[in-house]
Amino acid sequence: MLAGQRVEVETPHPRAATKRLAERLDGRLLESVEAVGKHLLLRFEGGLVLRSHLRMNGRWRVERRGTQRRGKPWLVLRGAEHEAVLWNGPVLELARDGGRLAHLGPDILATPPELETMIARLRAASQTREVGDALLDQRLVAGIGNMWKAEALWHARVSPWRPLRDVSDDELRTVLETSARLMRGRLDGARPLHRVYRRVGRSCHRCGAVIRSYPQGENARTAYWCPGCQKGGREPSA
Ligand SMILES: [Zn+2]
Repeated sequence: MLAGQRVEVETPHPRAATKRLAERLDGRLLESVEAVGKHLLLRFEGGLVLRSHLRMNGRWRVERRGTQRRGKPWLVLRGAEHEAVLWNGPVLELARDGGRLAHLGPDILATPPELETMIARLRAASQTREVGDALLDQRLVAGIGNMWKAEALWHARVSPWRPLRDVSDDELRTVLETSARLMRGRLDGARPLHRVYRRVGRSCHRCGAVIRSYPQGENARTAYWCPGCQKGGREPSA
């Protein structure tokens, strides 16, 4: 609906604002909009491609220009008559045409997910990297959200703090399979039952230890884990 128009670009959400998309895209011609699997590719003049992955909660809405709304969407693309609004879009990346998408890992929501390719990518990464951090790297595996990562690691009894070199292929496979299954169940409408995510200070359903959380990785995403049944790695001191 907006393709072929010059668009005004705003990023009201603070986490989106840090990506400096508005500065780079505002006023550019939006040449085309293309869906590839769960990815939406917006091509702008000058060879810039904005990629969004909706994960579980992301939504694009097209509304009349100037529609009043509450809350802070990630992105607003405003054309002459309509505006496209992205809510909850944790994956939002700007790349040069022909650039990053080729390096994107296999999609966790593909049916079936390419588990062996994901494991190969995880093995090609630095093996000192902590598994909880690596699972969020879109170049290795695309589309696992922080909550699903935490839950899948708990189910597999793998601590997010273990370096990849200490995690077996079987363990990685279990974590990836579980993520896919949990996320797929959510898509099918099953209500998610959290075991560790946002359960800090409460007891683990499996072993009774107290659930912890701590920021992890370059982007300081919060890791949630049970120190009783997800042992190993350089766990931060309590
Ligand atoms: Zn436990």
